[in-house]
Amino acid sequence: MIVAKNIHKNYGLVKVLKGVDLHIKKGEIVAIVGPSGSGKTTLLQILGTLDKASKNQELIINSKPIQQLSDKKISEFRNEHIGFIFQFHQLLPEFTALENVCLPAYIGNKDKVETEKRAKELLDFLGLSHRTNHKPNELSGGEQQRVAVARALINKPSVIFADEPSGNLDSTSAKNLHELFFKLRDEFGQTFVLVTHNEELAEMADRKLVMKDGVVVE
Ligand code: ADP
Ligand code: MG
Repeated sequence: MIVAKNIHKNYGLVKVLKGVDLHIKKGEIVAIVGPSGSGKTTLLQILGTLDKASKNQELIINSKPIQQLSDKKISEFRNEHIGFIFQFHQLLPEFTALENVCLPAYIGNKDKVETEKRAKELLDFLGLSHRTNHKPNELSGGEQQRVAVARALINKPSVIFADEPSGNLDSTSAKNLHELFFKLRDEFGQTFVLVTHNEELAEMADRKLVMKDGVVVE
């Protein structure tokens, strides 16, 4: 469950977000669409606690009022409850698929044996069991993005934020990735907030929010 009220963001004199209100239910898949520069990424970063709003924001995730937490507590909360998928997978090139998936769990000081077991299960679930020990440059774009999905899931986050996750994929890989989001929601009950230019994904979502010029218009 995510509640955001009156989210503003300024860069200098430029007002990028001009009062966004949102209420996203647990297990809901919400697509955020809108023209380039309308503030989608900025909003996602604030909702995902990677950035802060300019005024006294109100942001509640899983009943936790985020604005009352220290930066350290916010990092811990993010590591435990939130998963991110970016347009460019941002896997670390010198690590294998398995190691990349395990990283957020190691950051959260999780048990190594348990973590590797879960990472292997996730890679298996995503059809990547034959790629565990491959490095990112030995994988296709679709495979790299699925590794990034596994990495986003390793800590069993309740919310996944994805910023144009299929923006860099061919249409078949994109379709497979989109179907995967719905499968994950059905199996694990995760909430998804997806910024996308992909019409098909936006139409598949439970709800579509349109951003324009720093506000949600519909
Ligand atoms: P979108 O993801 O919808 O394309 P963004 O949220 O990335 O839009 O950007 C919205 C506006 O905010 C753009 O005009 C962009 O130039 C500006 N902006 C984003 N990040 C910064 C930043 N760090 N400093 C200054 N301006 C920024
Ligand atoms: Mg963007």
